[in-house]
Amino acid sequence: MPKELLLQVTPEIAANELLLKDYLSKQIKVIPQEIEHVSILKRSIDARQKVVKINLKVLIYLKGDTFQENILQLPDYPNVSNAQEVIVVGAGPAGLFAALQLIELGLKPIVIERGKDVRGRRRDLKAINRDHIVDEDSNYCFGEGGAGTYSDGKLYTRSKKRGDVNRILELLVAYGATSDILVDAHPHIGTNKLPKIIEDIREKIKECGGQVLFETRVTDILIKNNEVEGVVVQNGDRILANKLILATGHSARDIFELLDRKKIFIEAKPFALGVRAEHPQSLIDSIQYSCDFRGELLPPAPYSIVKQVGGRGMYSFCMCPGGVIAPCATSPGEVVTNGWSPSKRDQATANSGIVVELKLEDFKPFAKFGALAGMEFQKSIEQKAWHLAGQTQKVPAQKMIDFTQSKVSKDIPKTSYVPGTTPVELGQVFPGFLTQILREGFTAFGKSMRGYLTNEAILHAPESRTSSPVRIPRDGITLEHLQIKGLYPCGEGAGYAGGIISAAIDGEKCALKIGESLNKNPRII
Ligand code: FAD
Repeated sequence: MPKELLLQVTPEIAANELLLKDYLSKQIKVIPQEIEHVSILKRSIDARQKVVKINLKVLIYLKGDTFQENILQLPDYPNVSNAQEVIVVGAGPAGLFAALQLIELGLKPIVIERGKDVRGRRRDLKAINRDHIVDEDSNYCFGEGGAGTYSDGKLYTRSKKRGDVNRILELLVAYGATSDILVDAHPHIGTNKLPKIIEDIREKIKECGGQVLFETRVTDILIKNNEVEGVVVQNGDRILANKLILATGHSARDIFELLDRKKIFIEAKPFALGVRAEHPQSLIDSIQYSCDFRGELLPPAPYSIVKQVGGRGMYSFCMCPGGVIAPCATSPGEVVTNGWSPSKRDQATANSGIVVELKLEDFKPFAKFGALAGMEFQKSIEQKAWHLAGQTQKVPAQKMIDFTQSKVSKDIPKTSYVPGTTPVELGQVFPGFLTQILREGFTAFGKSMRGYLTNEAILHAPESRTSSPVRIPRDGITLEHLQIKGLYPCGEGAGYAGGIISAAIDGEKCALKIGESLNKNPRII
């Protein structure tokens, strides 16, 4: 029987198979040659002490133990060409994993996506970065793979259901992601690897008889007697089915407006808003690893920080070690930031959203917009930032200490944000209460992470698409909209997920509920 062991070793031992075997042989009192194979089950970095250690959970196979590599296989998908059709709006993680699950259940997904496939999408990202042109259907948020395609691909989630998380991670590995994501405590894929995985998922959906329609924007939902009948797309075509998974993400403002106009019940939802801070990665490494140089054995250091300031949480969000700040606007006339990293996280800069939790009462000035008040609040800040930075995709920026002292920075160095920055006193971008919290919060961050509060750090504004400003409420059991039968609000846009993994889990959940309603052998969740 292989032996399971928990251990803490140096980065040198963790990175070298021979050293690790040698170390383990001493621990279990055998000669190194007796160890046939070591499987790493879990890996995390412990940087709490002066000397960084690696925590490992390993399974040791001695001579005579049978070791068999676990190669993950795709599920046995049936052909669904002639099966009952289900409309899935949105090809983000929620929509794509819903489609795969529908196929497993023997149902035919028709995935409708306003944006282009991952390849076509790249040209439009170039246009935002270089020419400041925002395509309202194809950008960092819209297009195949959804908002997470060109991201850091962080795959951690606060979901408590380990089984669901593992299933999604295993599916991602079966579709080509590295198996390290099953082992690392903070797995990530990287923006250079995600598109191919997403392409493979789409090809599988098509191969099984599902449909994937790109450059097809849903403009209306057909409803009769409070039951879904189908959708209308931008050229007026109707696509009919009485089950509809609506997985359009947190930036589909036209969908929220459509639902509001049609008096389909939605409600304002608090979200978080702030700035994206960029430090030199070497500075974050030296703070987190207590060293002058990280060396080659440790990965670029992440950080996670949270403080209570003025009765609200202020925290780091979607931190990208070795990453780049991306222009994530979805309409002309606004600017939005977020971040991505390549799989090696080898860029010279570290960026993170630093955001403050908002409350429904903050949206009061926009009360006339009803359920869309939070969305209008968000829009107003993005538009103000666009005006202040010169009406291009440049963003307002300020050095961190200058911000805490309300001083416009004179000379902002070039940052990873390709469209560029304009020096602006960021207090002009945000309402007074938010500026005050951010100022106090950065000062507090500097006290608990020495070196963090520095003018080497550049703040970019705003980080505003942290989660959906609207909830599309659904029944807790059937997952159908409270009012409309056959409508399944799904993923981040509906307010039921935050991040790639939880959106994928929610996509599967909605598909399973549809299967259950049609007596299609639901997997137990
Ligand atoms: P989305 O991914 O937003 O997908 C919705 C899809 O619906 C889009 O493709 C959109 O084009 C389509 N759509 C919208 N309206 C219509 C319409 N009317 N008709 C047809 N189609 C429509 N999360 C992480 O977990 N880890 C990360 O590292 C990470 N990094 C990120 C980096 C960036 C730059 C961004 C923008 C986001 C990042 N996120 C990350 C967040 C993550 O991408 C989202 O939480 C996740 O994608 C939500 O999934 P979803 O399927 O619910 O919605």
